[in-house]
Amino acid sequence: MNKNNNPDVIIAGAGLTGLTAAWHLGKMGLEVVVLEKNNRPGGVIQTFREDGFVFEAGPNTGVLSHPEAAELFEELGDLCKLEIANPDAKRRLIWKSGEWQALPAGLISAIKTPLFTPGDKLRIFSEPFRPKGTDPFETLERLVLRRLGRSYLDYAVDPFISGIYAGDPSKLVTRYALPKLYALEQNYGSFIGGALRKKFESVDERMKKATKDVFSAEGGLSSLTDGLAAGIGAGRIVLNAENTIVNPHKEGFRVNYRTGGHSFEITAPYVVSTVDSQILPGLLPFLREQDHSDITQLEYAAVTQVIMGYKNWKGMELNAFGGLVPSKEQRDILGVLFTSSFLNNRAPEDGALLSVFLGGCKRPGLADLEEDKLKALVYKEIQEMLRVKDPEPDIFRIFRYKRAIPQYGRSSEKRLKAISNIENKYSGLVLAGAIRDGIGMADRIRQAKNIAEVIAKDKAAKI
Ligand SMILES: Cc1cc2nc3c(=O)[nH]c(=O)nc-3n(C[C@H](O)[C@H](O)[C@H](O)COP(=O)(O)OP(=O)(O)OC[C@H]3O[C@@H](n4cnc5c(N)ncnc54)[C@H](O)[C@@H]3O)c2cc1C
Repeated sequence: MNKNNNPDVIIAGAGLTGLTAAWHLGKMGLEVVVLEKNNRPGGVIQTFREDGFVFEAGPNTGVLSHPEAAELFEELGDLCKLEIANPDAKRRLIWKSGEWQALPAGLISAIKTPLFTPGDKLRIFSEPFRPKGTDPFETLERLVLRRLGRSYLDYAVDPFISGIYAGDPSKLVTRYALPKLYALEQNYGSFIGGALRKKFESVDERMKKATKDVFSAEGGLSSLTDGLAAGIGAGRIVLNAENTIVNPHKEGFRVNYRTGGHSFEITAPYVVSTVDSQILPGLLPFLREQDHSDITQLEYAAVTQVIMGYKNWKGMELNAFGGLVPSKEQRDILGVLFTSSFLNNRAPEDGALLSVFLGGCKRPGLADLEEDKLKALVYKEIQEMLRVKDPEPDIFRIFRYKRAIPQYGRSSEKRLKAISNIENKYSGLVLAGAIRDGIGMADRIRQAKNIAEVIAKDKAAKI
């Protein structure tokens, strides 16, 4: 029997989720086939090397927020080397009234910062005594106004949410979008009290690997996805797979696809989808229309990333992770990463590599601007905000994502219920990717590892 025609698991999508799941499944001894519609693995992760610059089209960095992320790099060994950002990455700047202010990192700076009003700074002392929320669907905006105050919403949470979700705190539901923050209030009754108590709680060795460290991979994030692809084995990844359709079958699932002008049919007891919610109706045509509509209600933020590389930087000192722009300030960019200041070898010596972000849920039109207008706007913003006389860079690249970041809002309850119902009804089918379990790279790595473990256990139980 050709194992490639009857693998244990078929995975749709060779992004970080699909590749990580395939890597773990392979290590657990399962036969896997990954079907990828694109002509390369990696999904939105794509690193370019040009003229002394190393830059990303999609994500630039992640946070090692789950032990699974650190462990994946350990396991990959020589296939890919983890790169931890240098300490500059701990410094975050926020734009207020025409200048950058460092986000406070300690008590003194928290008292001195002009970012928050004196009233809200005083109010912070009563935070541990405020009652905890009772609405499980409370938005982030309402939670922050209830516990912290308007200036913390405008000058900390709003820009932070722009940086992570390109989102709107008035639409994101805390329980789904920031589950750790939700749990902090629910379990400890207070952010401050919870954070302090957690410091003294014992943490097992494995959980210590979950940190706030900012990571990339040496040579760029494609080294991670290429390393995974190499470890999985090229024969197990089918590129340019078109018209992939999954249907239930006596063996579990039958998957039809086309590549290189030929049609193929393979079967497997397990199928894992890692694709965007909008692709699901075509991939899984046998599901009820109601299930599809509950899942496709998930909204995504449109984001445009502009890469600017300078061989000789003559603007302000870039000794930070980057700058975030609160929506209240009404500038045209969401923020800018000073990538070369915290990652190695991203720009020539004396040069700088910047990633500028536009659009998001609050200003989607800016992500769509035609190239000339976009260029003029970004030059103007960079000139004024990073104090550079001549903003024209040596390299300028635009990467647009109409559906960049899923927004875990009120519709999440229905979506997660639909996913769980489908998985219960069609045993062996797993709906994964960023449609659930978090939007960051570490979330994707953790989810993929969990899925691999569940499938391996289920298969072992059936033997
Ligand atoms: C612009 C941008 C910036 C980001 N910034 C950060 C960041 O700073 N930090 C962070 O942690 N995360 C960030 N993220 C999120 C992070 O990149 C993602 O969570 C992660 O890379 C998604 O991986 P994935 O495999 O789930 O999805 P994807 O990378 O989207 O992979 C899905 C794959 O499925 C394939 N596919 C689609 N349809 C089919 C089909 N019918 N058949 C077969 N294959 C199909 C696609 O071609 C793709 O390769 C960012 C994302 C974007 C877009």
